[in-house]
Amino acid sequence: MLGQGTFGQVAKCWDAETNSYVAVKVIKNQPAFYQQAIMEVSLLSMLNDKFDPDDQHHIVRMLDFFPWKNHLCITFEMLGHNLYELLKKNNLRGLQLQFVRTFSRQILDALIVMKGAGIIHCDLKPENILITPKVNSAAGVKVIDFGSACMEGKTIYSYIQSRYYRSPEVLLGYPYTTAIDMWSFGCIVAELYIGLPLFPGASEYDVLSRMIEMVGGQPPDDLLREAKNTRKFFKHAGSIYPGNEAHDGLRSSYRILTEDEVEARDSKKPKIGKWYFPRGRLDRLIFSYPWKNLNEGNLPEAEKEDCLALVDFLRGLVEFDPNK
Ligand code: ADP
Ligand code: MG
Repeated sequence: MLGQGTFGQVAKCWDAETNSYVAVKVIKNQPAFYQQAIMEVSLLSMLNDKFDPDDQHHIVRMLDFFPWKNHLCITFEMLGHNLYELLKKNNLRGLQLQFVRTFSRQILDALIVMKGAGIIHCDLKPENILITPKVNSAAGVKVIDFGSACMEGKTIYSYIQSRYYRSPEVLLGYPYTTAIDMWSFGCIVAELYIGLPLFPGASEYDVLSRMIEMVGGQPPDDLLREAKNTRKFFKHAGSIYPGNEAHDGLRSSYRILTEDEVEARDSKKPKIGKWYFPRGRLDRLIFSYPWKNLNEGNLPEAEKEDCLALVDFLRGLVEFDPNK
């Protein structure tokens, strides 16, 4: 068994025709899962055949699909561990910058192709990015699991993405685009470097308040005005809410609810996680990691520059305005 998820189980199998291992995803035999799996098959075959015929863009290859005892089965090329397993092996202390760089570039390559095809992945996270078997000893990754994917402009579901990687648009209930994958990608890049999730919120409110604390600012007012769930998280504080740090230096009409206000409403406390999870501003976080470099003053000059570049890169990804 290679993995289990919401949609079914993935098993390592021997293909006697090609004399090679393959990964077979056996979908649960319920109509809703079957329908979504049909979507996975059609979107991935389109991506593979039309948009990446030469297998150059770090997207998993689908080899076959077939029904078996009321289960839909999808066969994929056999890949290695997922990135969450890799981080765990590293005691959640993050990867060396050279690997963060290589993996990020490759995931980005896949995302560019997906954007060109108008496909939103909708569940980008370390568990859905796998290490590729070593070819000429070069490290590589591929994006897998198009089981939640959809076409841009045909977005049916509002409850998508895994919570830590959920974009502001999806949290707030605003029409979403391929930009939501870019948000998740930013979360992943940071996590690869620091070893822990960037926004490990115990609730949606917790995720959103961590974003605001870490990135600074908040989603733009026109997004807040039109989003369906704004009132779950924000209080309308009049046309000019004084002293509020809003988007792009503009003043906002909204302020995020305080923890007390949310607690009074939900009457349950957000759970404290297992680890010491990162909090505070993004730049402080990147500079005080990896854990061995707790004192940022001691960072060598070259590493300081790398950290600055990483913070700059991340800021462009965890951007509240989806149009940017
Ligand atoms: P789900 O939709 O249930 O999350 P995934 O397609 O993400 O299913 O597969 C679940 C897990 O199985 C993955 O996180 C990964 O660890 C493993 N897995 C999936 N596909 C492969 C593959 N091609 N090669 C090796 N392991 C795989
Ligand atoms: Mg998955």
